[in-house]
Amino acid sequence: MLCDLHLHTCLSPCADRNMTPAAVAGLAKLAGAQVIAVTDHNSALNLPAAAAACREYGLRLLPGLEVTCAEELHLLCYFPTLEAALEYGRQLYDTLPDIPCDPAIWGEQWVMDAEDRLLKRVDRLLTAASAWSLEEAAARCRALGGEPVPAHGDAASYSAFSVLGLLPAQYGFSAVELVYPERKAEYEARGLLPSGLEVLASSDAHFLAAVGSRMGTLAPDSVLQRLL
Ligand SMILES: [Zn+2]
Ligand SMILES: [Zn+2]
Repeated sequence: MLCDLHLHTCLSPCADRNMTPAAVAGLAKLAGAQVIAVTDHNSALNLPAAAAACREYGLRLLPGLEVTCAEELHLLCYFPTLEAALEYGRQLYDTLPDIPCDPAIWGEQWVMDAEDRLLKRVDRLLTAASAWSLEEAAARCRALGGEPVPAHGDAASYSAFSVLGLLPAQYGFSAVELVYPERKAEYEARGLLPSGLEVLASSDAHFLAAVGSRMGTLAPDSVLQRLL
């Protein structure tokens, strides 16, 4: 199953405004994806529209979001149901600092319906860091039946490598997203990555042309299979 499991929409202030859930789903379908995950920064509020659009296009949606943990590193959280993702998003929103999103500085944060209509704007800046540590964000994800996966673990910023120096085994992750998945064995040999993790590679698209530009395949024994 071809999948792109890291996609932003116009709910993320750093994404393009034409990244509506319907547009993202339609482009992913054109790119050949069978499963997608919409993973906006610190919010699940565009998932209902994404789910409706995916139904329309015959795509599977893995409900997700991308948490900015207190350590300023990004954690993808995937859930078995839309409701679980929305519940996680509600809990997470309350842990964000009360910094209003100034669209002139940060960009807009749009909640859409599946017909590209604007439903509302989100007040708090969604790219700010949550009060949850990486450990707490992961534990709360698991408590709702979800699977936490460190995002772009080997990236130059907002990553386990850039913030912690490595991905410690003690967090118990089963999978990691890498920018350079071909370097997995090297990372393991250098002690940067626990051995045997499942590696995901996705587009992290913030603009339309990037949707589906990097896709992976979900193996039959993928830890994410239980969520589909
Ligand atoms: Zn990120
Ligand atoms: Zn992202």
